[in-house]
Amino acid sequence: MSKEDYEIVIGLEVHCELSTKTKIFCSCPTEFGGEPNTHCCPICMAMPGTLPVLNEKVVEYAVKAGLATNCTISQNSKNDRKNYFYPDLPKAYQISQYDMPLCEHGYVTIETEDGEKKIRLLRIHIEEDAGKLNHDDYGRGTFVDLNRAGVPLIECVSEPDLRSPQEAEAYLRKLKSIFEYIEVSDCKMQEGSLRADVNVSVRKKGSNEFGTRTECKNMNSFRSIVREIEYEANRQIEVLENGGVVEQETLRWDDVSGRTFPMRDKEDAQDYRYFPDPDLVAIKLSDEYIENIRQNLPELPESRKKRYLEEYLLIPKAANFVTSSKYYSDMFEEAIKICNNPKTASNLMMSEIARILNEKEEEPENIPFTGKELGELVQLIDKGTISSSIAKKVLEELFVNPKAPSEIIEEKGWVQISDEGAIKEVVMKILEVNPQSIADFKAGKDKALGFLVGQAMKETKGKANPQMLNKMFIEELKK
Ligand code: ADP
Ligand code: MG
Ligand code: ZN
Repeated sequence: MSKEDYEIVIGLEVHCELSTKTKIFCSCPTEFGGEPNTHCCPICMAMPGTLPVLNEKVVEYAVKAGLATNCTISQNSKNDRKNYFYPDLPKAYQISQYDMPLCEHGYVTIETEDGEKKIRLLRIHIEEDAGKLNHDDYGRGTFVDLNRAGVPLIECVSEPDLRSPQEAEAYLRKLKSIFEYIEVSDCKMQEGSLRADVNVSVRKKGSNEFGTRTECKNMNSFRSIVREIEYEANRQIEVLENGGVVEQETLRWDDVSGRTFPMRDKEDAQDYRYFPDPDLVAIKLSDEYIENIRQNLPELPESRKKRYLEEYLLIPKAANFVTSSKYYSDMFEEAIKICNNPKTASNLMMSEIARILNEKEEEPENIPFTGKELGELVQLIDKGTISSSIAKKVLEELFVNPKAPSEIIEEKGWVQISDEGAIKEVVMKILEVNPQSIADFKAGKDKALGFLVGQAMKETKGKANPQMLNKMFIEELKK
């Protein structure tokens, strides 16, 4: 049998740090970074005798996430202790939720080659993040930083509904985008605010039973997730083709070698000795409480898309693109308030901004400038101050040195030449050295005009106004 006879099955457990101001069981700040062990108190450092108190905002944010992903919200829920030892977990247990998660049985829709597909969410529960271990570069040991300990997380567990690395990526992008829109997390993958455990198995096409899965922990880039799934599926197929069995394992992905390494045998729920946390009260939510959150959910991408199609007359491709991320969408709205030109603003985002981000392997949240700069840039194009080819150069520059576009073009001397006299000078110069093109044009070869305009643009380093060049060349050639 060959690779084509197998089907890949993927399920993701997505951890997302909530952007509440304070931690889940104490009043320490959740802010990223900081000097090690400065965002801590006796509670999140697990001093004996301290007591946790559940942050109500955490429940609210998790319910928001559940509603936005079509989950049923449990009116009765509780916190459980998940026992395990690790140096970044000083209590030797994590407060999580076991059999009564806050949200259950939701779904999100993704776009696939064969149209829309629903990916089911088994559950979303709340839990606390662990600290961080910093391995010293000089081999002096490992340092524990508890700033992250107790930062609230939601864990979103998908059903094993995903069938390709591309579907897994689309699903994660969709979740990320939803959580950004409802403002429960900044979803910054580079800072670990959004990370996924990736479960992969393979089975013969047509089979009804799932194969044994492996689980790769803590993946925080789309590219590595896609690579890991491809690698892991191929590895498992090879094992099976050679008559072996796939071991149920927890893996670690190494980006440099592009392969997975076994971390430990998979533990079962029973290994964690879950039990209800006796220090915390049960979570009881009224209908009213849940309805109130539902009524106040911010505008979701689908509705923004509809607005962009109807109000701003964007083409579907542009509307899809702009709403694919809240960062894009907010930037777009800020820009058009200034320039009132949705078409050019969305085009620049879709072509240039996306291309630059892709080259840098970065996400929309890493764009160093705002919709204000984009709006001003579009204004400058519309006023004829710069050509659209210069606008591309300004965008490149904005990524390196974000400041007002007008300042950039002034500094760089990129102002468009729209002065009749100056344009005429260039036109005459180009005509003088291209007698063949003049003859070609007169013989009816229209292509000659394009060539001449191109030469003039080159001569002026892209600064000449192309419409004026066109017009003046035609006038001169027809003389
Ligand atoms: P844990 O990893 O903590 O034991 P769960 O059983 O709750 O957790 O979830 C495991 C994840 O693995 C889920 O996202 C689920 O969809 C996925 N999964 C379960 N079985 C398979 C399988 N055979 N192949 C791929 N993914 C799977
Ligand atoms: Mg797991
Ligand atoms: Zn604390």
